[in-house]
Amino acid sequence: MAILITPDDVRFADLKRARNGRWPEDRSEEVSTIALCLSAQDTAEVLQRVVSAGQRPTIRSGGHCYEDFYANNPKGTLIDMSMQSQVSALSNNASYRIEAGATLGRTYQELYKLYNVTLPGGTCDSVGIGGHVTGGGYGFVSRLYGTTADWLSGVDILTVDAAGKVTMRSCSAKQDGDLFRACRGAGGGNFGLIVAYTFEKLPPAPQEVMVSNMIFPWAEMSEEKFARIFDAFGGYFATRGQDPDTWGLFGVIEANHKASGYMRVSAQFCNPDGTCKETKVLDEFLALFEGLKPSATVPVGAGNSSSQSFGPHMMTRIPWAETGAAGGARRGLTRGKYKSTCMKKKFTEYEIRTLFKYLTQTRPGVDFSRTLLEVDSYGGAMNRKEMLEETVAFQRSSIMKLQYQTYWSDPAEDEGHTSWMHEFYKEVYSGSDVDAAHQGTPYPGANYEGCYINWCDRDMTEYSYWPELYYGPNYDFLQQVKRKYDPNNVFHHAMSIRP
Ligand SMILES: Cc1cc2nc3c(=O)[nH]c(=O)nc-3n(C[C@H](O)[C@H](O)[C@H](O)COP(=O)(O)OP(=O)(O)OC[C@H]3O[C@@H](n4cnc5c(N)ncnc54)[C@H](O)[C@@H]3O)c2cc1C
Repeated sequence: MAILITPDDVRFADLKRARNGRWPEDRSEEVSTIALCLSAQDTAEVLQRVVSAGQRPTIRSGGHCYEDFYANNPKGTLIDMSMQSQVSALSNNASYRIEAGATLGRTYQELYKLYNVTLPGGTCDSVGIGGHVTGGGYGFVSRLYGTTADWLSGVDILTVDAAGKVTMRSCSAKQDGDLFRACRGAGGGNFGLIVAYTFEKLPPAPQEVMVSNMIFPWAEMSEEKFARIFDAFGGYFATRGQDPDTWGLFGVIEANHKASGYMRVSAQFCNPDGTCKETKVLDEFLALFEGLKPSATVPVGAGNSSSQSFGPHMMTRIPWAETGAAGGARRGLTRGKYKSTCMKKKFTEYEIRTLFKYLTQTRPGVDFSRTLLEVDSYGGAMNRKEMLEETVAFQRSSIMKLQYQTYWSDPAEDEGHTSWMHEFYKEVYSGSDVDAAHQGTPYPGANYEGCYINWCDRDMTEYSYWPELYYGPNYDFLQQVKRKYDPNNVFHHAMSIRP
């Protein structure tokens, strides 16, 4: 039996809240009930009751959605899947079943300890499988192995037909193949309620990885040095980083705003055989930043990390079992705004100039000490063209994925942070490389491949062509799937596929 939490329950105040403290926006946007579902049967019954009562169901697995998609649902029911988190093998370890409520951290640990395999998913332990995989989810070993959605072989999903009847479907390439393909990259909250994912095969867990951190204090930063860091990083992934022997290298620029005190370039590395016996590829990458590194140990503390000191370059060898990022902020305490870009080429001079301008800017009343641009390396196995037909993730030529992030706690800073971010992003994509019809956006073309739905940004709906940014040529197909499997548009949010 599902546990129903209503406003008279002391747990309601905590459980109604999203991880992003901005949602629900106010009391009038709150859900009326949170249903903690303990089994697939439970979930089907709750969904049927909600739909029959004419309520709107929203869904939460790990709760990491950046926008208000599940938390703003006045008088509706929030179906919470977090109690269904089993990770198991189906037969002879030949296929794996992961329930939607499992977190990435639990999934990595169980897959490694029980079966010595891994899922090439995201870097944050507390992200939920439910939203992550269907949005395409990727992370540290995805250049080597592809995205999580690339490995999917089945999805157990509850859909609602035109008469309002709930049905459990086990979809795969052979059964409801159109729905299965749509679940591989379209993002959550679109076609139905996903109960579990099946993976016929998963890649082997690496045996060990090398982790390297280079810290660049803003006190020693110049515009010229900033440009050289971005140029070296982008240039590498546009050229040498395309070679298969480098695919075990995942690089990140954490370009924190000047107010945080430092920037960081990090890399996680293993060879394609899952070992670090040979480190030539990593050494080559790190050598690009030789001469740019600071001369001495620098204190780090004002920004995203707790106070600590780093040497100018730290390198650690870590057994695979001990990897995995920390969980991050507690539910509802931190407010955030995010934007994303998929890049096909290295940074242009104009882009770098604009990044520098905004990452050194100050605004009265806005604290930028928790603001950053994260540049992730991309490409490798994620760019396998054969996956274009099997999934709806069309971004198969990108070399970097950018995530603009800003965090704060005081609601009084909402406007300052969101408007700054809006201007920043718009200006970066208003250079001469962007055609007149798509100014302000990384419209898919020679330089960009749009945006990433797992890093959703409802501001983008201001552009009539926003679906092309997220789904490229696949939006018509997704609308057909929507009309077929969710004819009453039961599952919807600000950026869901329109019927
Ligand atoms: C700290 C942090 C780190 C991140 N790191 C990465 C990363 O390294 N790589 C990466 O690719 N992404 C990353 N992300 C983005 C993350 O992949 C997405 O936010 C993802 O959608 C989260 O899934 P969730 O289940 O935790 O979120 P939820 O908020 O529960 O769900 C996200 C969306 O999917 C819907 N949904 C949830 N469960 C289901 C379900 N069972 N059936 C149908 N729809 C459902 C929700 O209604 C919502 O619309 C990160 C996010 C955060 C906050």
